[in-house]
Amino acid sequence: MLEDSIFIEAIKNGNLDVIRQFPKADLHNHFVLGGCREFIQSKTGYEIKPISKTLSSMSEMDAWSAQYIGNRFNSTEGRRLLIEATFEQARKDGVTILEIGEDVWGLGAFFHDDIEELIAAFQEANAKIASEIELRLQIGLSRHCGIDYLEDCLKHFWGHKEFYSIDLYGDEMAQPIDKFIPIYEKAAENGLVLKAHVGEWGTAEDVRTAVELLHLHEVQHGIAAVLDESVIDYLAEKKIRLNITPTSNVLLGRVSDMKDHPIAQLYRKGVDVTINSDDVLIFDSDVSKEYLRLYRSGCLTAEELNDIRLNGLKERVLV
Ligand SMILES: [Zn+2]
Repeated sequence: MLEDSIFIEAIKNGNLDVIRQFPKADLHNHFVLGGCREFIQSKTGYEIKPISKTLSSMSEMDAWSAQYIGNRFNSTEGRRLLIEATFEQARKDGVTILEIGEDVWGLGAFFHDDIEELIAAFQEANAKIASEIELRLQIGLSRHCGIDYLEDCLKHFWGHKEFYSIDLYGDEMAQPIDKFIPIYEKAAENGLVLKAHVGEWGTAEDVRTAVELLHLHEVQHGIAAVLDESVIDYLAEKKIRLNITPTSNVLLGRVSDMKDHPIAQLYRKGVDVTINSDDVLIFDSDVSKEYLRLYRSGCLTAEELNDIRLNGLKERVLV
């Protein structure tokens, strides 16, 4: 049993190798961009470089994707490779709980509309690369997609107990959150943990509205909540978890400086927060580095970071 004090010392000493040995959760990871770059290069010869400076527009992000990802992985084999690369990345990083999953449109595009094949792709990669990691399999929705289309795709997913959670991502402004109420009602009936990306580009009020309307258990990002005390109190009281991705927030210009990242204020006011990678390949944001960057910037203390680490590892009880 590794002692918490050793983790705290490793943070203070900047010892990344020791930090990596400690169990950590990654509950906000888009697997297509979550892989180990050395693994991908060794299997394909492609070198994928992260961005190093703050992006000034989303078109720069699109240019990065076109340059490094493009259509290269748009096949069953390509998708399976990226899933394996994500488990390899998590294994090297000491991630012990990994929440990832395929977008619903990927079922037809890459897995022949065969839900068993899709589930097996994740479970087999889990067993092959890192059987010690707890996989929390997620259903992914893109916010710009029509509701009828999403509901049609989701027919294949409902009732499969292998899925742990559902998440909504993509352009936060694409369509109003209330359109997704029927889908989230069905997801709740299926016993899924309910998550959505909100409050990255949107407002504190958007966070509260999404939690209320979709009955979310967790919010991906949610950092805009820091701008409204009443929303902070609401999240703390309702025990809503925010799965936060600090480097991503800085490099996308959502937070001006790591030392001022809202995670500190949210945590100190009693909000349930976790620290996650988002997109390792773009942001060079593995989970251990995220802990270290938050410490080095002066945002959180080593003791606070350890507390947040342990919080992410706790069993989730749906209420
Ligand atoms: Zn995300």
